[in-house]
Amino acid sequence: MKLKNKIALITGASRGIGKATALLFAKEGAKVVINYFSSKKEALSIVDEIKKMGSEAIAVKCDVSKENEVKEMINKTINTLGRIDIVVNNAGIVYDIPLFERKIEQFKKTIEINLLGTFLCSKYASEQMIKMTNGKIINISSTNAINSFSPDTIDYDASKAGIIMLTKDFAKKLAPKIQVNAIAPGWVYTDMNKNLSKEFIQKETEKIYLKRFAQPEEIAKAILFFASDDSSYITGSVMVIDGGHD
Ligand code: NAP
Repeated sequence: MKLKNKIALITGASRGIGKATALLFAKEGAKVVINYFSSKKEALSIVDEIKKMGSEAIAVKCDVSKENEVKEMINKTINTLGRIDIVVNNAGIVYDIPLFERKIEQFKKTIEINLLGTFLCSKYASEQMIKMTNGKIINISSTNAINSFSPDTIDYDASKAGIIMLTKDFAKKLAPKIQVNAIAPGWVYTDMNKNLSKEFIQKETEKIYLKRFAQPEEIAKAILFFASDDSSYITGSVMVIDGGHD
């Protein structure tokens, strides 16, 4: 088991990539905090699934963009499970709206959940990791951080680019005991993409060398790599997982 007795907090773990990561971490022996915002039923059912696997899990409701709620979530994790060894900053939202129709409120919300949320969870979890002198933080960015695929996700792209620099700055600040890395997925089959048309998906799939979107479990395996000792000499790095793309 790669994460035996580790305590892992995964934001946005009620669905998609976060859910797949929570289940994989539990299979590898971790005790998992399932953070959710609105999907309480889904979060509780993941907790049940993990308990059936013989591991421990708790569900914690928290809006990652709210400082007081993040502090409470970190405190609850430490009070219930004893400490935090791993944080996966995965919670995220996207608006797909023509650039010039983007409302300021939408722009702000995207930045607050995706970027500020990553900052807040990293800041408050790492305060505790510094005391323990070890820890792993894995941030979920996107290939949209690196290339412009669609100006209609401008705030999302900026938030994900910000996550890359936040990863590098935290990696430098928290070294040498705490490692901070990022993953930049391309297209993944999750609810985030459920409104894309069949034609659009077909067109996008053609551009991918491996000719398919990723399954969330394939991203979870890379997150596990960064969370485990297998990545013992890596920090401040960004791993692109896009099935090959120009
Ligand atoms: P998803 O299926 O839409 O799930 C999003 C998760 O984020 C849900 O668990 C949701 O919780 C949570 N969330 C949203 N707002 C939140 C808030 N304010 N506080 C706490 N949690 C919140 O998304 P996904 O596709 O798995 O994406 C996961 C991450 O991967 C995101 O950061 C996304 O940007 C990134 N990513 C995805 C893709 C892709 O193609 N899917 C590609 C590249 C990067 P509730 O349901 O409880 O509200």
